[in-house]
Amino acid sequence: MTEVKRNTIRALIAEATPKIGRFEAGILLAHILDKPKEYLIAHDEEELSDQAVMTFDLYVSMRIDGMPVPYLTGRQEFFGRYFEVDSSVLIPRPDTEVLIEQALIVAPDRPLILDMGTGSGCIAVTLAKECPGARVTATDVSPEALEIASRNAASLGAEVEFRQGSWWETVGEQESFDIIVSNPPYIRSDDEHLPALQYEPQSALTDGGDGLSCLREITAHAMAHLRQGGWLLVEHGWDQGPEVAELFRAAGLAAVRTVRDYGGNDRVTMGRRA
Ligand code: GLN
Repeated sequence: MTEVKRNTIRALIAEATPKIGRFEAGILLAHILDKPKEYLIAHDEEELSDQAVMTFDLYVSMRIDGMPVPYLTGRQEFFGRYFEVDSSVLIPRPDTEVLIEQALIVAPDRPLILDMGTGSGCIAVTLAKECPGARVTATDVSPEALEIASRNAASLGAEVEFRQGSWWETVGEQESFDIIVSNPPYIRSDDEHLPALQYEPQSALTDGGDGLSCLREITAHAMAHLRQGGWLLVEHGWDQGPEVAELFRAAGLAAVRTVRDYGGNDRVTMGRRA
């Protein structure tokens, strides 16, 4: 009787597929082997080392436990670039690409840009790469996040000035910008989805209250730090559009509008200092 080997690429993927799906199994195994995903198909009879098999088994069980794939592979794609991530930063989401697209539409030439609560730095770095001549400043209260964000800026060749502090803390009284962006924690503390996001930093997801407190804080001082014609753009929850738009109008912002993400949900509200 021929023994069926369990340590070939084909067998490992087949075994993991009912547990975590073929797609994620492929991502994890390719990462462990440090090869592109195509390699798995072309070499599916290759026998892997015990070390690689044990690592794969471990990753599969952590994934079953709910650990997001990007925290296992240490990276996530955002707007066409790979960003390093670890559990001290929120995993970049496709929803946030809408914030980038809208900022690119309204950004003038050589804009001064401020990103508040930058996390992995995906917004700041992407805008620095996509806006010719941009000068980008990014803040975060978490030193661990800033370390990741700085590494992402360096490895992607983006020039970003990082500052450690909460919301407006590090912004000078006289400083003003063409574009202020933020993806702040906006999930209500009693939101039923929060437990499913237990592996991500809670301080990046929820304000511990009604979900609007950081959005209020950002909006309250934005006018004072926007240049004339400058724009504030924030990401928010699917049901927060009308409230955020009202905060914007109350703060004196003009041309206020809310934009949907590709899932069809309200996701970004923007307004201009007239
Ligand atoms: N969009 C994220 C989620 O719902 C939340 C991000 C945030 O709070 N800024 O999973």
